[in-house]
Amino acid sequence: MPDASHASSPRQLDVAIVGGGLGGLYAIHRLRKLGLKVRAYEAGSGIGGTWFWNRYPGARCDVESLEYSYSFSDELQQEWKWPERYGTQPEILKYINHVADRFDLRRDVQLNTRIKTATFDGATNEWTLRTESGEDIRARYCIMAAGNLSTPRVPNFKGIGSFKGKWYHSGLWPHEGVDFTGLRVGVIGTGSSGVQMIPLIARQAKHLHVFQRTANFSLPARNAPMEEERESRHKAEYPARRRAAYDTPFAIGGYPRPTQSALDVTEEERNAAYEAKWQEGGSISYLYTYTDLLVNKEANDTASEFARNKIRGIVKDKRTAELLAPKDHPIGTKRLCLDTNYYETYNRDNVVLVDVRSAPIQEITEKGVRTAEAEYELDVIVFATGFDAMTGALREIDIRTSDGAVLADHWEGGPLTYLGLMVSGFPNMFVVTGPGSPGVKTQMIASIEQHVDWIADAIDHLGRHQLDRIEPSPQAESEWVGHVNAVADSTLYPLANSWYVGANIPGKPRVFMPYVGGFDRYKKRCDEIVSKGYEGFTLSRHKAEVA
Ligand SMILES: Cc1cc2nc3c(=O)[nH]c(=O)nc-3n(C[C@H](O)[C@H](O)[C@H](O)COP(=O)(O)OP(=O)(O)OC[C@H]3O[C@@H](n4cnc5c(N)ncnc54)[C@H](O)[C@@H]3O)c2cc1C
Repeated sequence: MPDASHASSPRQLDVAIVGGGLGGLYAIHRLRKLGLKVRAYEAGSGIGGTWFWNRYPGARCDVESLEYSYSFSDELQQEWKWPERYGTQPEILKYINHVADRFDLRRDVQLNTRIKTATFDGATNEWTLRTESGEDIRARYCIMAAGNLSTPRVPNFKGIGSFKGKWYHSGLWPHEGVDFTGLRVGVIGTGSSGVQMIPLIARQAKHLHVFQRTANFSLPARNAPMEEERESRHKAEYPARRRAAYDTPFAIGGYPRPTQSALDVTEEERNAAYEAKWQEGGSISYLYTYTDLLVNKEANDTASEFARNKIRGIVKDKRTAELLAPKDHPIGTKRLCLDTNYYETYNRDNVVLVDVRSAPIQEITEKGVRTAEAEYELDVIVFATGFDAMTGALREIDIRTSDGAVLADHWEGGPLTYLGLMVSGFPNMFVVTGPGSPGVKTQMIASIEQHVDWIADAIDHLGRHQLDRIEPSPQAESEWVGHVNAVADSTLYPLANSWYVGANIPGKPRVFMPYVGGFDRYKKRCDEIVSKGYEGFTLSRHKAEVA
């Protein structure tokens, strides 16, 4: 029940923002510049989103830090110094806190505040957000910056409550850290988080069992301390580089566009090209070796096989190497991991890979994990099992309108959005990097900035034209969803059972969620829609007096 003190005096805002990560923080900054009254609500006890929650050993970005950073302020990008090629989680969190102080964002962030419901009232043209403690917030516009990878998923294993040891999820890591020294540890899951933490846990633990259902491709990050010369060159070229990034599919500049098909060159040339990328480190650069690695299976097979052979060359035990070499999806069609000594870790005496594809986990017992084949006694279990991606955070909020529209019903068969930015039937509610946007397939901060800029421009446009309501037409929404799927179907992405299609969540509708047509094409489409008077959107004036 709402507490009376809150209920009697709802806070009145122009724009309410859900989430205090990179998206929510940039939205505060950008909307304030329009003179709007804004406030962000964050469930966590600190800002930073992903980088606040994911404190597991080895957590770091897999896009180089000089790219994976805000571009909206040249002073900021010039003054900040990244100590390593790929920033660690503490470093990125320090950066986010610096940004919040530098741009005085904290005064408009309310921490420890989870939004439970969001209701649009058609009569007053306002959203009311209600917090877990019953506080009501009213706002003309609402921005969901609740994150794509912010709803950790612990599989519903039988017996989990009976385990006598400790368990952790990578996305809800204790702030004080976990000491694995001398312990028998089990890591369940070998996606990006598992791949990052496994080499470090292996060094501390007495014994490590890795429970793998699906092997993922991982490439060497080649992380290293930042070279001064590289940093100053990059900084000198920043404005041009950021502009160039906007013309690339992944929103990352600096990689020459591929010009050839993998099938147009000899095997020798191809392997030399892949070898050079392997040595250079980084995932985008590998996928950018040829034009057709993500659209032509035969071309992709060459890159996948090269990576599989690398794994076979590193991992000494043949059976383990074959289990680690992915064969069920083309390279790049699931999130491509970057690692430091991941495959080498399986050569250690204290590490064992357990194949839970052939012998699935049946239950968690008092002592550890029981598979169809054996029971593994453990002191600690780490779930690196990922997130209810892309729709999880929005589905956890009860979002509805006075007309009877309910987001959970509207999305029953899979998420429907126009541009990933808005949902038909839910006026004045914007989503940052939602399903249908290219966000998760890009350097996400670039997508966040582009989305928030688009949203801010739309709100500004409404204000300047004495309008106060915007919503996409059902037709525009369904055409966009059709386009997102058609583009995905023209690539190899649908061949993978990935979180892009919700495959990691039992019962989740199997729909391809991200737009994989490229950030460059997406941005052009967004700009074109604006230049055509917000094509596909209905803009209207609800009240005589406009806020
Ligand atoms: C381990 C990991 C590594 C990553 N590495 C990269 C990388 O290298 N490059 C890259 O481009 N991207 C990476 N990502 C993606 C990353 O999520 C984005 O880059 C970016 O941080 C997203 O920012 P955001 O603000 O949109 O969402 P988030 O950072 O997820 O923030 C959303 C916030 O909303 C809050 N929230 C959610 N629901 C509610 C609610 N109902 N009420 C109140 N608050 C709520 C959450 O607590 C969270 O703090 C990574 C993700 C993970 C998990």
